Amino acid sequence: MDRVQLLGIERVALAHCAGRVLAEDLTAPASLPAFAASAVDGYAVRADDAGKTLRIIGESAAGRPFEGNVLAGFAVRILTGGVLPQGANCVVMVEDVEEKGEMVTVPAALKAGQNFHAPGADLRAGERVLMAGMQLGAAELGLAAALGFPRLPVRRRPRVALMSTGDELVEVGGKPGRGQIVDSNRWALLAALREAGAEVRSLGIGPDEPEPLLRLVTNALAEADVLVTSGGVSVGTHDLIKPLLESLGTVHVGRVKLKPGKPFTFATIGDKVAFGLPGFPVSSLVTFEVFVRPALRKMQGFTQLQRPALPVRLGYDARATADRTEYQRVTLRRDGQELVAETTGSQSSSRLMSLAGAHALVRVPPGQGIKSGSIVEALILALP
Ligand code: AMP
Ligand code: MG
Repeated sequence: MDRVQLLGIERVALAHCAGRVLAEDLTAPASLPAFAASAVDGYAVRADDAGKTLRIIGESAAGRPFEGNVLAGFAVRILTGGVLPQGANCVVMVEDVEEKGEMVTVPAALKAGQNFHAPGADLRAGERVLMAGMQLGAAELGLAAALGFPRLPVRRRPRVALMSTGDELVEVGGKPGRGQIVDSNRWALLAALREAGAEVRSLGIGPDEPEPLLRLVTNALAEADVLVTSGGVSVGTHDLIKPLLESLGTVHVGRVKLKPGKPFTFATIGDKVAFGLPGFPVSSLVTFEVFVRPALRKMQGFTQLQRPALPVRLGYDARATADRTEYQRVTLRRDGQELVAETTGSQSSSRLMSLAGAHALVRVPPGQGIKSGSIVEALILALP
């Protein structure tokens, strides 16, 4: 994480800001609402005139204020969003009055301040409304628009070059010959990368041959911030990614005490970073979750880098591996006030079914099983 740099700032039109990360604090240049605005349809009056029959002298509709003064004995018809006219200090709902021609009788009890939004009641000029590091969603963008910002400063998205490697791989839709399999990692990682905020360029399937692989990677890194590969990081003679990254830059991590995902590799190449993910489908996605996603979020300036963690009750005996931390895939269900985690079945690193539909990852430390019924922290991928 220390080797991952924050990306630059760009000013983006609101229409394209959803999901992006705000790069600078946003301060309200003006109060909201800017004027006393009626919350209902009714009459703007003086609270002292409670119980009286008043003469209607005009109307204040949304966007069409009444410019006169409301004196004692008078009322102005007002519509939701209309400016409270001078002199008036409350609004009576139309449902609570009796109208007769140009006269209106208001209830016996009126309170100054009722039924309108005072200036600055929602927020005050100078108030910090959005913080750098927040992800922009519907409400945040609505707020920015209400305050008059047509564009916002957001962090650039990481440009990621994505490549599968392996001579056994064929494109999805093609017919695998003997010993061949369909490249599924690229589609899984494409989705995972986009969810993490990346702009992805697909390099397709790289061969298990050094020269073409080197050319693909060098070309891609000319434009990308990040390289993500799958496969070719184990210790077989056809596993070429680690030597390739070593020849181009520095490999900082070549193996981790993690299950699944032991051969996970991390390198820097100048100011670019490269993640060599293992080939087995579950290994590549779990190492993506644990290492790549937080790194991509750091690059984008997210305050929150990790998935949320919640305490859950284990509904099965979690057996541990002797020397590696294991991320077990679970589904969650509500049981009264608790969330109960059930295993998704065989946790084989080739079995994508262990991850499909999973709600969370449960971290099991090496050498310590966790008994069914124990409370553990789960990294939440999706809630049931
Ligand atoms: P490797 O780390 O290259 O030895 O890959 C380990 C295993 O992961 C391979 O034998 C394949 O079964 C599987 N694998 C590798 N790449 C992919 C891919 N792109 N899609 C699906 N499975 C893959
Ligand atoms: Mg391979």
